[in-house]
Amino acid sequence: MTEYLIVGNGVAANSAAETIRRLDQEGSIRMFTREEFPFYYTPALPEYLSGDKALRKIFIHDLPWYEKNRMTLHRGTEVLGIDLSGKTVIMKDGRRFHYDRLLLATGAACQVPSISGTNTDGVFTLRTIADADAIIERAKKAKKVVLIGGGLLGLEAGNGLRKRGLRVSVVEFFPRLLPRQTDTTGAAILQKQMEAMGFSFHLGAATRKIVRSGSALSVELETGERLDADMVLISAGIRPETTLARSIGAEIGKGVKVDDTMKTGIEDVYAAGDLIEHRGSVYGIWPAAMEQGRVAGSNMAGKKKAYKGTLPANNLKVAGVHLFAAGDIDHNGERTSIVRKDETSYIYRKLVLRDHSLIGSILLGDLRGSDEIQNAIRTGMDISAFGADMADGSFDYSKIK
Ligand SMILES: Cc1cc2nc3c(=O)[nH]c(=O)nc-3n(C[C@H](O)[C@H](O)[C@H](O)COP(=O)(O)OP(=O)(O)OC[C@H]3O[C@@H](n4cnc5c(N)ncnc54)[C@H](O)[C@@H]3O)c2cc1C
Repeated sequence: MTEYLIVGNGVAANSAAETIRRLDQEGSIRMFTREEFPFYYTPALPEYLSGDKALRKIFIHDLPWYEKNRMTLHRGTEVLGIDLSGKTVIMKDGRRFHYDRLLLATGAACQVPSISGTNTDGVFTLRTIADADAIIERAKKAKKVVLIGGGLLGLEAGNGLRKRGLRVSVVEFFPRLLPRQTDTTGAAILQKQMEAMGFSFHLGAATRKIVRSGSALSVELETGERLDADMVLISAGIRPETTLARSIGAEIGKGVKVDDTMKTGIEDVYAAGDLIEHRGSVYGIWPAAMEQGRVAGSNMAGKKKAYKGTLPANNLKVAGVHLFAAGDIDHNGERTSIVRKDETSYIYRKLVLRDHSLIGSILLGDLRGSDEIQNAIRTGMDISAFGADMADGSFDYSKIK
């Protein structure tokens, strides 16, 4: 009987475990997580934060699910080390568990900029339910929040706090919002719309430090400007959780390096999810971690499968603001693209072309055709027959299904 150990209980870990169980009915599957909760949908945390979603609505697996699938989930625990020669993992409480195949699915932590004051009471990051609970508790007494980072996650979390009645100021290092999902035009339209909702933005601004005086906090910018706050939320990207992988000598670049089968360079040790670097990319998105977990699980259970990468695609989940971005969005306007724009309705639709194929898209305010467009980008189909009409929301997208 094969012993499978999985460090992690996020989407990479669970998709691996499900795949293993499908392929190997006999093997023992053990998973470890630092958290107290079973598997939940992390992208719903901003909706939990806003109060739009109850906690029970974000769980994907309940505890009986693990039992039913004959998996053991160790919660509220930590794997501290790995003994490669004995093929065991070593727990915080000293227990050891043997593995035949080990998957590191340790995810990522929030990146925190190296400025002073980030450890101050009232400064938060959002990655887990426990983080969200701490933020909600603080928000009950707060009126103003400064958000450091104007990326997708920051804006979604900021919107959650806005809905709880807080005034939200966003400090973003880039001169525009969502630098990876919009170009200058799209970002300007989005900014106007979000300002109309009550957000205020400080763009092209670097934070120098966070200072507490009495019960008040302030975020000091490099310009010397000070933004007063009752709480601060840092949302400045992710840092792959590579500690365990590093401790056993796995090759680390931007993340833990894996091949197409999700193998690290160490025998019987695989890695999948936010911690990995695959062909130079660290994805940090749910669908990529899910697919990587499936590929890892399949190879661990003896069925060869290769991961070919994931098309980066994102949606901004802020009620009333609709944004979809996929593939190469041509930040700098260097490629050929078809654009439709209606600033008064906050609509901007851009399709980026190379030769006769779509390679990327930004859809703001009108998401019609997003699935078909995403599919056309993925397959690289020839779209030359359809011309500029394709950027119109009213285009018949069944033609490119
Ligand atoms: C607020 C928020 C919103 C998001 N929104 C989106 C979105 O809209 N779309 C999208 O595609 N992606 C989104 N993401 C990103 C997405 O959630 C992640 O890419 C995905 O969850 C990564 O899954 P994972 O399995 O790699 O890691 P994680 O979910 O980070 O899981 C890591 C697991 O490893 C465990 N662990 C780590 N180290 C140890 C150890 N030493 N011992 C024991 N256990 C350990 C942790 O406890 C945890 O269970 C969002 C993320 C956040 C935080």
